[in-house]
Amino acid sequence: MKAYKLAAIPGDGIGTEVISAGVEVLEALASRDGGFAFKVDQFDWGGEYYKRHGRMMPENGRDLIRKHDAILFGSAGHPEIPDHITLWGLRLAICQPFDQYANVRPTRVLPGITSPLRHVVDKELDWVIVRENSEGEYAGVGGRVHQGSPLEAATDVSMFTRAGVERIIRFAFKLAQSRPRKLLTVVTKSNAQRHAMVMWDEIAAEIAREFPDVTWDKMLVDAMTMRMVMKPQSIDTVVATNLHADILSDLAAALAGSLGIAPTANLNPERAFPSMFEPIHGSAFDIMGKGIANPIGTFWSAVMLLEHLGEKPAADRLMKAVEKVTADPRFHTPDLGGKARTTDVTAAVIDAIHGAND
Ligand code: NAD
Ligand code: MN
Repeated sequence: MKAYKLAAIPGDGIGTEVISAGVEVLEALASRDGGFAFKVDQFDWGGEYYKRHGRMMPENGRDLIRKHDAILFGSAGHPEIPDHITLWGLRLAICQPFDQYANVRPTRVLPGITSPLRHVVDKELDWVIVRENSEGEYAGVGGRVHQGSPLEAATDVSMFTRAGVERIIRFAFKLAQSRPRKLLTVVTKSNAQRHAMVMWDEIAAEIAREFPDVTWDKMLVDAMTMRMVMKPQSIDTVVATNLHADILSDLAAALAGSLGIAPTANLNPERAFPSMFEPIHGSAFDIMGKGIANPIGTFWSAVMLLEHLGEKPAADRLMKAVEKVTADPRFHTPDLGGKARTTDVTAAVIDAIHGAND
């Protein structure tokens, strides 16, 4: 029997609530399937750790998880610590050195969930957004000088490398090719950003020649927000820069019903390092500790984790269980207008995994 080593990093806020639910569900799947097991190592890194040790994770933190098969991550963000410290000290401190350059964000309107877009039914909103996750606007290049003086200045330089752009565009074309519609939209802003985004467009056109069976188009990011709202059925696979896709994918999550549902995979496609799976949402200070966080985003991320490990039947079983549970309004948490608690949704998904309510 295969035993996968899983690193669980709940982080802060509702991250701790949804990751314990996610681990429970993964263990239920393993026991139902019988063909594989998980050895889960928990890491208490994050804001509380920072308050004790002055850093978000230990200096050798990455070495402790480098050999794991996958990472399940909650959220970095603590009400008493500035966001740029928590984000760079934990999430980006893992994503960047582990070269998880492909951030993949599927969006669908799940059964029982209502999109805020009137008239949108099921299949009309079925997207995957691919976010460049290693460079671009979040490369971390820049500086700040003369703090406190009227001469104060600050820069954030966006960095695009040919190698970085080629690999993410190629990844997106491959993904588009694997989906039934074989349709890719390359998001850009080459009208205003006249250096890096022009190179981005040129590289997209070059890579497109490797994929003659994929239909692709190019869209300015501002126009893309409008298209997502007005013509959702015209979109299938999308690729965009780190910043652009960050924003577009929150919009996508909201259009699919709630930020609490949306999943992410941070992939190192070459598998030189472990990949990391996490709900899109953050620590949600307004609801933390109340037991009402929606765990569906974490469960859907666990589906992506299982797919990455090659456990396709278990991944399909979990996705079916999730869809069965979202279809029943008794299991909707308050973000979906219901009264269910995190534990109710988790128990219902575990029941569905075992086929108890078939
Ligand atoms: P957020 O995602 O934490 O919350 C936005 C809104 O969505 C809140 O009203 C929240 O209650 C709601 N929400 C989010 N997830 C939910 C869930 N599972 N169930 C029910 N409702 C949910 O975004 P924010 O408020 O901008 O950020 C809060 C903190 O989290 C900040 O410190 C931020 O930096 C951090 N953050 C971290 C990550 C990450 O680690 N990947 C992502 C986003 C935000
Ligand atoms: Mn974001």
